Amino acid sequence: MRGPAIRLPVLSSEERLAALHRELEACRACPKMVGPVVHGPAVPSRILLIGQAPGPREGSFGRPFAWTAGRTLFRWFEAALGVPEEELRRRVYMSAVARCFPGKAKGGGDRKPDPEEILRCRTHLEREVGILEPRLILPVGGLAVEQVLGHRGPLAGVIGDTRRARFHGVEADVICLPHPSGASTWHKTEPGISLLGRALRLIAEHPEALRAFAGASPAAPAAPDAPPKSR
Ligand code: SF4
Repeated sequence: MRGPAIRLPVLSSEERLAALHRELEACRACPKMVGPVVHGPAVPSRILLIGQAPGPREGSFGRPFAWTAGRTLFRWFEAALGVPEEELRRRVYMSAVARCFPGKAKGGGDRKPDPEEILRCRTHLEREVGILEPRLILPVGGLAVEQVLGHRGPLAGVIGDTRRARFHGVEADVICLPHPSGASTWHKTEPGISLLGRALRLIAEHPEALRAFAGASPAAPAAPDAPPKSR
C-alpha cells in the first residue's frame, strides 16, 4: 500500500535563482580563470541582459558592470529609457557568457573567455534562461551576440534590429548592443552611433521594457555623451 504523497515545496523563481547563485559562487571549474565569480541579484525578470565576462574590478564590487564599461552602459539606458542604474539592476536580470574575470590578455586588455570556458559556464546561463523564460534578451558585445544568435560577422549586421530567436529552448526577442568598453571605438563612430541609438530606441519601445519599467523612478537628465535617441 502506498503511503501519503510527499509534497515538495514549490520554489519561486527568485528562490531558484538564489540557489543557482550559491552553486555559481562555489564553481571553480575553469583553472585559467582569475575569478572571483560575479553575478547580479536574483531578479525574476523577463528581460535578460548578457554581458561577456567581469573585468578586474567587478569582483571587489561583487556585481557585474560595476566599473567604467558599466558606467557607459547605464548612461545609454538612462538616455533611452529614463531609468537610472539602480532601477535597471532591480528590474533586469544580468548574466554573462562567463562569470569569472579571465585575467589579462598577453597583448593587453582583458582576456576573452576561451571556447571551453564558455561551454562550461553556459550550463549556468542555460539554467537561468530556464528559470526566467525571458521575453527580451539583450546580448552586450560580440561574444554574447554570438552565443545568442550564432552571429560572428560585423556587429553592424545585427545591431539596430529586433530578432526573434530560440535560446536554450525559449523563444524571445533579441536586441543586441555593442560592448560599452572604453577601448572600443565601434559605438563612438558611425554607423555605430546611429545603430546604437536605434537599438536603444527599440528596447525603450519593447512591450517587456514598458512593462518592466512602468513606475520606475526617473533618472536625472541624460549625460552629455549619451548616444542620440534618433533612429
Ligand atoms: S567561468 Fe563559469 S564555469 Fe568557469 S569557473 Fe567561473 S563560474 Fe565556473
